[in-house]
Amino acid sequence: MNLSALPPVEIGDVAGTIRLHRRELELVRRVVATHGTHASRRVLLVEFVTADGVRGWGECGAPDESGYTGETADAAATFLAGIAPGVIAGRRSLTATRVRALASAIDPDATSRHPMAVAALETAVLDAQLRATNTAFESLLGSTPKRAALAGATLGNQGTDDSATAAIDAVVADALEAVAHGYPRLKVKIGPALHTTDIVRELRTTLGDSVVLLGDANGAYPPDDVAHVASLGELGLDFIEQPFPAHDTSSHQALVATGTIRVALDEGVNSAVDALDALVNHECTDITLKPARFGYLACVDVLNRAAEHGAGAWIGGMFDTGVARWANVRLAAHPAVTLASDIGSSARYWATDLTEPVVADAGLVTVPGLRNPGLSGVPLST
Ligand SMILES: [Mg+2]
Repeated sequence: MNLSALPPVEIGDVAGTIRLHRRELELVRRVVATHGTHASRRVLLVEFVTADGVRGWGECGAPDESGYTGETADAAATFLAGIAPGVIAGRRSLTATRVRALASAIDPDATSRHPMAVAALETAVLDAQLRATNTAFESLLGSTPKRAALAGATLGNQGTDDSATAAIDAVVADALEAVAHGYPRLKVKIGPALHTTDIVRELRTTLGDSVVLLGDANGAYPPDDVAHVASLGELGLDFIEQPFPAHDTSSHQALVATGTIRVALDEGVNSAVDALDALVNHECTDITLKPARFGYLACVDVLNRAAEHGAGAWIGGMFDTGVARWANVRLAAHPAVTLASDIGSSARYWATDLTEPVVADAGLVTVPGLRNPGLSGVPLST
């Protein structure tokens, strides 16, 4: 199935077509990143309802606070409430491929200032289009989807609140539990103030060589630290995500040139195409695609082209509920997604997920597949 073959969805009662939902969810464990501590998340969901009553869902990945890329869930909700009437006004039908242009016509800064809000609305419309035609997202991938997606676990790192020994012990204990559950890749938050050298050394010593280690620095290292970051590769860190600030192209290129560690960007790219450009520009060795920021359609486009560049790729997550996590599992079914994605079990994040929980078994999540229409996970109650 080609995307252009998906018919538009009919818009019915204008007042009820786009609905926003806020849901407060407690995280199972506090997570410390360079840009803040996460103990809970006030989730923003976008629901698109067609004239026939078909419901599509999109989850906005924007966190509660602005430290990640500046976009917050509250600002996204205000923005979407403002543009929703204009997106559907005077229109009888809508397609996901039109959402960006329609949002930009109302607010020229829509995709630059509110990328996660726009992506959530695009996802809700795409999900409705797929469900209205009984079509599975996997049929849009352009190649045979995988039956299971490789899951990675993200470890808590309590960081500076604890003594070094307590922080390291807690990360190692979390890592051992994740490995016991079969996760082949562990992601840990790292940075100059997060006992990183000791944690990497201890994890590699304890776990041996069978597990892939990824450090996510959220741009916390200064340019002077290229040699230090490269040394983390020699200690056993396989991948690093966004070691230097977003616009520090030269430090990323210098790190890639050392050849000691594989590098991917997160905050440093603003679109799926940017992620591919950064690869060509030797700022990274692999691609992490965040559909919460880029949208699923753009991610599929880039994945269709990633193989020709010989790059590894994985799907990056936010603190997703099952609404987005299931969609990410379906995107991770793309054959070009060669590395473990941020799609660990729901139970690692939430006591009770909004949807049927995502379950990783022996490091694999079964992909919903061609017999299951739609893209997003469906909330069990609204
Ligand atoms: Mg990241």
